Amino acid sequence: MPHTTGVRRRKVAVLGASGTVGQRFISLLAGHPWFELAAVTTSDAKAGRRYGDATAWHFGADMPPGVADMKLEPTRAAIDAEICFSALPSEAAQQWEAELAKAGHHVFSNVSTHRQDADVPLIIAEVNPDHAKALDVQRKKRGWSGSIVTNGNCSAITFSLAAAPLHTAFGIERAVVTTMQAVSGAGYPGVPSLDAIDNVVPFIGEEEEKMERETKKFLGTWDGKTFTDAAIAFSAHCNRVSVRDGHTVTVSLALRGGPSVSDVVAAMRTFRGRPQELRLPTAPECPVIVREERDRPQPIRDRDAGRGMSVVVGRVREDAVLGYKYVALGHNTIRGAAGASILNAELLAAEGLI
Ligand code: NAP
Repeated sequence: MPHTTGVRRRKVAVLGASGTVGQRFISLLAGHPWFELAAVTTSDAKAGRRYGDATAWHFGADMPPGVADMKLEPTRAAIDAEICFSALPSEAAQQWEAELAKAGHHVFSNVSTHRQDADVPLIIAEVNPDHAKALDVQRKKRGWSGSIVTNGNCSAITFSLAAAPLHTAFGIERAVVTTMQAVSGAGYPGVPSLDAIDNVVPFIGEEEEKMERETKKFLGTWDGKTFTDAAIAFSAHCNRVSVRDGHTVTVSLALRGGPSVSDVVAAMRTFRGRPQELRLPTAPECPVIVREERDRPQPIRDRDAGRGMSVVVGRVREDAVLGYKYVALGHNTIRGAAGASILNAELLAAEGLI
């Protein structure tokens, strides 16, 4: 049962509600015990239309009851919702997220625009919840009554959630990762079908840079004044593959102290964070699930583990070059986007930080 004592119910909005991540927010917020969907926004071009008419719904199940009849609002600072979940394109986020925070809204963003700002926390709820304390500095410095909290790039979240227990227990010195990223990561309509089907595209704009920057911020520290990046030598190769949902990341890394493979597995398996302690509504029981089969994880079999909120790891073994290697898989629009953002909002609401 979720731990709900003292957490009041709040109105929330989804910004960019008709898109891939926006739709995921809509489906995850259905029946949420603390958050009530009160507004859905879009570009000016679609504003005023009925959500059900303006949205090419991607999921097998119907839209949650009541959502189809909601009217799409243009994205503006005057929204009747305390919390705004942002799934905007970056230019619209640049225009509106700070305006919304200034107007008193708590913005939980999936967009890269503010992730590296010196006073904006970039949070994975299990990994670096203490970074939320940066909101005091943010509010003072910018004079906002609201706030901006970001979650990371979908591949950076997948890697960092599974790597965090290793960094805490042993310390990561170097990591080399290769991603195989699903087409839903590019939004809708996203990658043209003639480029996606039967193909691997070995380039995703800015993705490798984001993975490196964000991993170091997630695994770094907040000292009350500044964020300091984790000192990890990091290299990423990012590829788009013909998978609908679920990013797979192959990882090789060097750890301090020479732990055994079973120590590495145990660190991942026993890892729990604040969301598990607080039994937050969207928290998975196990943030990192380690499987033993030699051919797992696989997107179609493992992406929905923990209702899409667990990262599934397999093939943990020794690596002749860096010491250790494994495969990690995360659901890009749930753990890598909407679910992660909702969990961040639950955490800050439960901790009284918003
Ligand atoms: P998407 O499918 O292209 O959806 C974009 C949404 O933003 C649509 O609802 C669109 O509405 C709306 N929009 C477009 N221009 C707008 C404007 N000027 N003002 C307000 N709304 C506007 O993209 P997505 O994949 O959902 O990604 C959304 C954001 O999340 C991006 O910043 C992306 O980088 C980030 N992200 C995505 C993933 C993923 O797995 N897809 C993961 C992590 C982060 P219309 O329908 O009216 O155009």
